[in-house]
Amino acid sequence: MAASEPNTQSAGALPEGDLDTHNQQHPQHAPDQIHLYNTTTRRVEPFEPIEPNTVKLYVCGISTSGPPHVGHGRSYVVFDVLRRVLEHAGYNVQHVQNFTDIEEPIVRRAKERGIEPIQYAREMEQAYFDAMDRLDVLQADAFPRVTDYMDTIIEATQTLENHECAYAIDDGVAFRVCDIQGFGELLGRDPMEAIVSTVTKDQINGRENPFDFVLWRNRDDVGITWETPWGEGRPGWHTECAVMATDLLGDTIDIHGGGQDLIFPHHESERAIARCLTNTDFVRYWVHNGLVRLGEDKMSKSLRNTVPLNEAINEHGPATIRTAYLLEPYRETIEWTPKLLDTAHDTTQTLHEAYHDATPGEPSTPLQRLLQNTINALRNDLNTPHALTTLQTLATDHKHEPGAKTALHEALTLLGLANLPPFNEETPNDENA
Ligand SMILES: [Zn+2]
Repeated sequence: MAASEPNTQSAGALPEGDLDTHNQQHPQHAPDQIHLYNTTTRRVEPFEPIEPNTVKLYVCGISTSGPPHVGHGRSYVVFDVLRRVLEHAGYNVQHVQNFTDIEEPIVRRAKERGIEPIQYAREMEQAYFDAMDRLDVLQADAFPRVTDYMDTIIEATQTLENHECAYAIDDGVAFRVCDIQGFGELLGRDPMEAIVSTVTKDQINGRENPFDFVLWRNRDDVGITWETPWGEGRPGWHTECAVMATDLLGDTIDIHGGGQDLIFPHHESERAIARCLTNTDFVRYWVHNGLVRLGEDKMSKSLRNTVPLNEAINEHGPATIRTAYLLEPYRETIEWTPKLLDTAHDTTQTLHEAYHDATPGEPSTPLQRLLQNTINALRNDLNTPHALTTLQTLATDHKHEPGAKTALHEALTLLGLANLPPFNEETPNDENA
């Protein structure tokens, strides 16, 4: 799995020509119907992108403040399966995912190591790519970094001030939430309740009201800062994603993805910023994956209860880790337990044994039906547990029928398992026979 060089060039819109290369499967046909759960409406809806054959997909990337943990792995595997399903259905996917490569924890950890924040951030970026390559997560078309986008972010902050969506405060710039229609729609309840639990007294200082969040904060620490009309500092996280997403994909994007912990305040605020900047709806489908829990708590770097992704892959193997993420519906919280990993291991074994024994060729009618059921499950709001159950039926009851290897290979490719060991040692050599 030699990965190509990641594209961290970020200036300007994505070049059209480069993006037509992902999907040559059904270039002439209208894509097959897919349904997705939209956080905004809280319903599973038929998916209809702005342009008939193209999907503009933005996924919130990691902060490079540490190596990825198994919670990160779940999010990127889920959106990788979504991308594979969209491409298989006939869409060209334009996929952008950012790196937040400057923020306080990065500055702090670089200082502990005695290195520059940017050097530390680049090391963690590489750790991300290494882990994702091991799980065969397809690379995005662009990986914009916040530090490469600073001029555009500062410009956008000025535009927000000109549009009277933002105002100067003592230590930077705040966003004026009260004029933005629909603030709280993603959260699905009164944002005041959430604000009260997340806003500290210090953060409210100088704001017109407690909803207002920081777009720019002046800093005098040792980390890198940028000069602006308001002072020297760094941008807020929400502005970064709004600016990078709209710059690379346009004012309205089809799918914006991320973990459920990003719904509020990050995505709610990002949406408000983008709406004020572009006067559009910004995102058609907000798609959020469930979290990974270790015991009682969400896995997060700030809680220091993480399982490093690389360690988990070393211990269990990439196919088991990937399968563990797909055993439960992607919107449910999963518990990272030995039981989950055992089930994932057993599932992988069953599929691999069948794959090993099966023969390639044109799949028999029952196999075609089972393969189509697997594909339909994935097109129905990414129902990976149902897809895996159907595949297990195929693997146990139909593996000796002609073409079982070809059918399994197509399904395993959609789930992103086909290129992982042990499956990749058994690629059918007569796939289209
Ligand atoms: Zn984001």
